[in-house]
Amino acid sequence: MSESAASAAAALLDRIQAPQGAGRDIPDAATREIIGRAPVHAVAELDDAIARAKAAQPAWEALGHEKRSELLLAAADAIDANAEALAHLLSREQGKPLNGPNARFELGACTAWLRTNAATVLEPQVLVDDETLHAELVYKAAGVVGAIGPWNWPLMITIWQIGPSLRMGNTVVAKPSEYTPLSVLAMLAIMNEVLPADVLIGISGDREVGARLASHPDIAKIMFTGSTATGRRIIESSAGNLARLTLELGGNDAGIVLPDTDVAAIAEDLFWGAFINTGQTCAALKRLYVHDSVYEQVVDALAGIAASVPIGNGLDENNVLGPLQNRAQFDIVSRLVDEARSRGARIVTGGEAATELGELFYRPTIVADIDNDAALVQEEQFGPALPVIRYSDVDEAFALANAVDVGLGASVWSSDPEAARAAASQMQSGTVWINSHGGLHPMVPFGGVKSSGYGLEFGVEGLKSVAVTQVVSGPGRKA
Ligand code: NAD
Repeated sequence: MSESAASAAAALLDRIQAPQGAGRDIPDAATREIIGRAPVHAVAELDDAIARAKAAQPAWEALGHEKRSELLLAAADAIDANAEALAHLLSREQGKPLNGPNARFELGACTAWLRTNAATVLEPQVLVDDETLHAELVYKAAGVVGAIGPWNWPLMITIWQIGPSLRMGNTVVAKPSEYTPLSVLAMLAIMNEVLPADVLIGISGDREVGARLASHPDIAKIMFTGSTATGRRIIESSAGNLARLTLELGGNDAGIVLPDTDVAAIAEDLFWGAFINTGQTCAALKRLYVHDSVYEQVVDALAGIAASVPIGNGLDENNVLGPLQNRAQFDIVSRLVDEARSRGARIVTGGEAATELGELFYRPTIVADIDNDAALVQEEQFGPALPVIRYSDVDEAFALANAVDVGLGASVWSSDPEAARAAASQMQSGTVWINSHGGLHPMVPFGGVKSSGYGLEFGVEGLKSVAVTQVVSGPGRKA
């Protein structure tokens, strides 16, 4: 990391942080050193932000799709111009390294998604066009969108929420996670260099501010990404305003390795499917079911990678895994691995904190010979510890994989394309990947089933989800 990126990051921070003596201290996830002060906005400030966003919305919608797309492209260019500084701030605040599929990668995804949002067209749908009737379904802005995000991919997920919303003519009030507000507020400030005033407002507050955002009478739509428990609270909060909801919630994604699989060919992808962002990824591989015939081979291959992958401070270009972002998440991972160990599971590698690296580092961990009812299998670990469960009957593996109340992603791994496709159809999840896990594309819809939430993001479906529909019904073509 160059000196210039560090000083550009410090200058960005100065633009958005609370004055000395105010706000909340935000630590560097790796060193725990304080890096800045997040503003803590009160409910009254949120109310004011929503009023401003509401006032700005009609003019923003009236600009039309072409002009809004131009402005979103300009916002993407502005992010690109500040990408190194933002990646630096993100790396410190979130913990993910600059290198690998991490901070710079996240910045790249932000602009890729924004540019796709700008280029995607949602046409009215002609429903009936005959002699008696011409009926169309048209898509209009919903109004003010509330965007509530998590701390794991804070910039990318914010863009997923605000890009389509702005594109469709909504204005947005965005509330980042209290763990990662600085990088999000910095990115919003950069976007606001090119967007009209009050079209996109960042509010950084506590959970009560999030709850007020979801229940505010002038909020038409909530884009929420976070835990299933909070998702349920948002449903309750929105009972009064009937805000439309897109809920991207927790997952416990299963992967199934079929008997005929070439283990050497898939080992790297399996590893990164589980350990991307140090396992703190909604649609990461969180439980791996492996056929008896290749079980030891898969465990050995994963353990070999886990033991050798560089982990440490994210600003060191050598590292590709970082710390857990916060103490609560670190404690969850430690508890789940300890419980697995105490019930006799085999810790093949890892299984302990890497205290020499810092307070919140945990060694990449592979747990073998573990029962399916272990907490590490049944609960979302959201960290660098993968349970590998042995199976001998593939139907039993499907049943175990599907026997959880969440269904975000899933994967099947096989050298036989037909077997893989057949297996994929058995999985209960919003996405099922074949021979990979977690890859996303800005034109391919993404969303969960069961308690992983509802509503789709990305592509044309993503634009629909931040719009309201109107049927325009008129006379048909006279014969
Ligand atoms: P969280 O639910 O604790 O917090 C998410 C956001 O909700 C934060 O901004 C928080 O301030 C806000 N919030 C908290 N209480 C609220 C309330 N009562 N009303 C409104 N807002 C409130 O989630 P987290 O710990 O930040 O994120 C981790 C979870 O998110 C994991 O379960 C993960 O699987 C899930 N996740 C899902 C996706 C997805 O796309 N499905 C993506 C990333 C993370």
